[in-house]
Amino acid sequence: MPRQYTYGPFRSRRLGLSLGVDILPKNKLCTYNCVYCEIGPTYETVSPEYRIKAPPSSNFRKELINILKYVPHLNSITVGYNGEPTLNENLLDFYSATLDVRNDLKWTNEPPLITLFTNSSTLHSDEIRERVKHFDLVLAKLDTATENDFINTNRPHKDSPDVNTIVESLVKLRKDMQNKKLAIQCLIYNSYREDFISNDNKENIKRLAYAIKKIKPDIVQLYSIARIPSEYFVYAIDEKRKKEIVKIFREIINNDLIEINYY
Ligand code: SF4
Repeated sequence: MPRQYTYGPFRSRRLGLSLGVDILPKNKLCTYNCVYCEIGPTYETVSPEYRIKAPPSSNFRKELINILKYVPHLNSITVGYNGEPTLNENLLDFYSATLDVRNDLKWTNEPPLITLFTNSSTLHSDEIRERVKHFDLVLAKLDTATENDFINTNRPHKDSPDVNTIVESLVKLRKDMQNKKLAIQCLIYNSYREDFISNDNKENIKRLAYAIKKIKPDIVQLYSIARIPSEYFVYAIDEKRKKEIVKIFREIINNDLIEINYY
């Protein structure tokens, strides 16, 4: 049976051994067109209110079981790869089917986490947060905390909320999630173009740290471009810069309960 939904499993520095699950159509569907996107440009961004109805077919369960029985040491079943997964109205149907399969199989270590990637653009919706809060681990994107940097870096659809609203929605999500884990993912990059200011600028890094301090996530994951970016003029920051940013984050956030890692 050809695979319809899953990728891998592959080793991820942030998740361990992870099986990717794509719940969107094969063409990228996203509210953003990030300059650094590693799956190519978004030719037409969609509004955060846009929804598709694509429930899991009966093959989803079979496909998961067929793969997972060979990897009893898996660490994460990770939803999201080809855009923004919360745009699929049936997100929770995928979650429930995955949970059933996880409960039915035998695991050599802890059972894998059911993880969700989101770009955070839809989290201002109560209905979306209500769905997202079920996942064991939510990896939520926040690369910027000033409106200019948000527009330059993530190039959101015109109906996307502003960056302050996104930060507020992450504060609410943290409260909604209770005993589940929220990780904020910050991709920081640099630019070869003198007329393009990347998100690695003093003001953005400082404001980002204050936003994280307010959100109080469990984890912060700082990383940079690792594959071919959508735009030719952006490139990865180096290890030294990542360490400097982590130091700034630690000083401003000043909360030992928040784990700050870089990759
Ligand atoms: S949010 Fe993710 S999928 Fe969408 S453009 Fe940005 S990096 Fe690509």
